[in-house]
Order: sequence, then C-alpha cells, then structure tokens
Amino acid sequence: MGRLDGKVAIITGGSRGQGASEGILFAKEGAKVVLADILDAEGASVEAQIREEGGDATYIRLDVTQEADWVRAIELVESSYGKLDVLVNNAAIWVPNTVEDTTEEEWDRMMAINAKGVFLGTKHSIPAMRRAGGGTIVNISSIAGLVGNPRSGVAYAASKGAVRLFTKATAIQHAKDNIRCNSVHPGPIDTPMTESSRRDPSQHEQRLARVPMGRSAGPEEVAYGVLFLASDESSYMTGSEMVIDGGVTAW
Ligand code: NAD
Repeated sequence: MGRLDGKVAIITGGSRGQGASEGILFAKEGAKVVLADILDAEGASVEAQIREEGGDATYIRLDVTQEADWVRAIELVESSYGKLDVLVNNAAIWVPNTVEDTTEEEWDRMMAINAKGVFLGTKHSIPAMRRAGGGTIVNISSIAGLVGNPRSGVAYAASKGAVRLFTKATAIQHAKDNIRCNSVHPGPIDTPMTESSRRDPSQHEQRLARVPMGRSAGPEEVAYGVLFLASDESSYMTGSEMVIDGGVTAW
C-alpha cells in the first residue's frame, strides 16, 4: 500500500530538480501526479518516466504567475482526476543579487514567481480541496526564508520569507476546512538551480562551509519530507516549518 494511495497532487516546477523528484516519489507512493511547469520537454520526459514505471502522471503547461493558467489547471485536474487533494508550490527562481545590485524589474519578477505564484496556486486550489473534503498544501520556502545569508540574494530571501508567513496565515484561515498548509525549508540541494555555484569550486566550498554535515543533499532527501507533509501521516501538522538543511540553521 502506498503512502499517497488515491490522492491527486499538483506539483509546480515539476519538470526538473526537486519538483521532478517529488513527482516520481509521489507516483511510486500511489498518487496521481500533475506536473506543472513552463519547461515542456523536461516535463513530458518526467511524465514519460513515471508512466514507464507504472505510475500515473500528466504534464501541463502552467506559468505560476498567470491566474488564467491556474483556473485552467484546476478545471483540468478536477475533470480528469475528479478532485484535488495535494498542492506542492515548488516552482521558483533564484538570483543571488545584493540590495544595490537588484533592479526593480528583478525584484518584481522574483516576487511574481516565488511569492505571488504561491498565493495564486493556493487561492485557486482551496475551493477544489473544499469540494474534496479537505487537502494539504506544501509550500517550498528555503533556509533563506528563515535566516540571513550573504549569498542567498535579497529578493530571493524576501520572497521565501513571504512564503513562510503566507503558509501560516493560510493554515490558520483554512484549518476548519480540513486544509493543512506547511512550509519546507531546504538547505543546499543539488539541482539545476544550483548548478552554476557547484561548477565554481570556491563558491561550492563556501556554500558547504556552513553545513555541519559537510555536504549538499540530493533532491530526494527533500522529497521524502514533502511526501510526509502531503500524506495523512502528518495529519496534526499545519502552519509549521520543516527544515531539511544538514544542520545549517542549527549554528
Ligand atoms: P530548479 O531550478 O531545478 O527547478 C525549479 C522549477 O521551477 C523549474 O522546473 C522551472 O522551470 C520552474 N519554474 C520557474 N518559473 C516558473 C513559472 N513561472 N511557472 C512554472 N514553473 C516555473 O530548482 P530546485 O532546486 O528544484 O527548486 C525547487 C524549490 O526548492 C524552489 O522553490 C527553490 O527556491 C527551493 N530551494 C532550492 C534550494 C537548492 O539549493 N536547490 C534550496 C532551498 C530552496
């Protein structure tokens, strides 16, 4: 028996990195998975991999900043799968700029994808989850949403801090609807997002110097935490923060 048997889940940013890893794991655990992203070829290949392994997945094009895309996606999920149980707001971008280097345009883009995208996804999923009798929302923040870091980028940190408190507000407002909402705060994870800093040995070393465990993590090490929050195993958790960071924030 799978840990997500019978559940229908949308994962944004599901075409690669942590989102793809979560999609593959969720499908193995019995969920029907909707991978939502703007990288069509990569999304189609994750969908194909899941299907080859006997799982159920559908890739859809969804730009998290576009409200019309969300309306269409929720309609499609309910008409194809009958309901929505789980939303993982995982899509984001990262730019490691300082306050003075950040342009107004960059700030707005970061906020649109990393913060407004989470708001729109949550807003449009809640009515569907209510119709399903409840649900669970997992918002991927970062340790950059918990503590300062000279290299994390100011707009990125602000957007991830916004996700952290938006999560708590949603949890409080929708507990009575049987909708739970929690945030996840990963440390350094090996995905395409961090590929450029991994390629530069001095940057990579600096990144790992803060990690008591002395290494970065694979995307599946976050996916298992997200799986727990998406499943009924976390039934008394809402508004909380799951930190998966090799000890970075324990300093
Ligand atoms: P990634 O860059 O590999 O994946 C991000 C995905 O989001 C991509 O598939 C991308 O196409 C998608 N995306 C970007 N803009 C989008 C949009 N407008 N609409 C829909 N999809 C969009 O990065 P990742 O490391 O897998 O990141 C997953 C999450 O984890 C993000 O929220 C990220 O901020 C967070 N995170 C990552 C790390 C890390 O070290 N990699 C650390 C902490 C938190």
